[in-house]
Amino acid sequence: MSASLSPGLYIVAGPIGNLSDLSSRAAEILRGADLIAVEDTRVSAKLLRHAESDRPMVPYHDHSDERVRLRLVERMASEAIALLSDAGTPLISDPGYKLVRDARAAGRAITTIPGPSAAIAAITLSGLPSDRFCFMGFLPPKTKARTDALTEVATLRASLVFYESGPRCAASLGDMATVLGDRPAALCREISKAYEETLTGTLSELAAACTAKEPRGEIVIVVGPPGERPQAAEEDVEAALVEALSRLSASQAASEVARTLGADRKALYARAMELRGKS
Ligand code: SAM
Repeated sequence: MSASLSPGLYIVAGPIGNLSDLSSRAAEILRGADLIAVEDTRVSAKLLRHAESDRPMVPYHDHSDERVRLRLVERMASEAIALLSDAGTPLISDPGYKLVRDARAAGRAITTIPGPSAAIAAITLSGLPSDRFCFMGFLPPKTKARTDALTEVATLRASLVFYESGPRCAASLGDMATVLGDRPAALCREISKAYEETLTGTLSELAAACTAKEPRGEIVIVVGPPGERPQAAEEDVEAALVEALSRLSASQAASEVARTLGADRKALYARAMELRGKS
């Protein structure tokens, strides 16, 4: 049993590229834990060396054998177990959800040592609205599933944050432009590393840039919220209504113009009835 840490689960955020971003409290936990559950022991060995930790590691994934998870939850009753990802915050597109769920159900002590996450770092870099955002993780690789996932959030009034890989960027950005509309976006690459870069532009501009040259390294895409529709001029609304009335009933014409120009349907219907009365 750890001399310095009380028993329980310690969720430890690691760096997303720059080892110096490991907090001193995170390093302390990594030195004091009885056992560290990691995704990949070779990747985490490097961070443990940096933290001067000699604590034992055990590989853990949410799809690991359930017995591995249950054993960890059991050990948390009397030992300090740390959970560490290959990069950034555990559970954020990384293993840990089931471990935390089961540790909670068993009434274990759970604490987190917060730190870097690529999603949060990218939203701060993007220059896009940060008051409301939706973290989407990785989109499905196949176009149909990807466009379905995008359609689900197309009307959400929030910035959208996606994890993506270089080879898939052009196709994903193209689908985003089609489904979400050509919104402003940012592609943040290699955050906190030597070649950190943020490209901004509309989705179609970024798709074209990624088609011309595949971006390298680790990538987050941030997409701005849907824009407010500019109010159509009164004469344009009137002309559209007159044209629609030549083809449709007053009710249908009012609905069509309300939908296409974003005008008030009730007022349009009243005006359509007036125009019908005159003709
Ligand atoms: N748990 C991590 C976090 O908190 O950000 C995310 C792990 S997920 C398996 C890995 C993905 O995160 C990468 O494919 C990339 O999309 C994004 N990512 C991680 N590090 C990054 C970095 N330094 N710059 C940009 N994106 C990064």
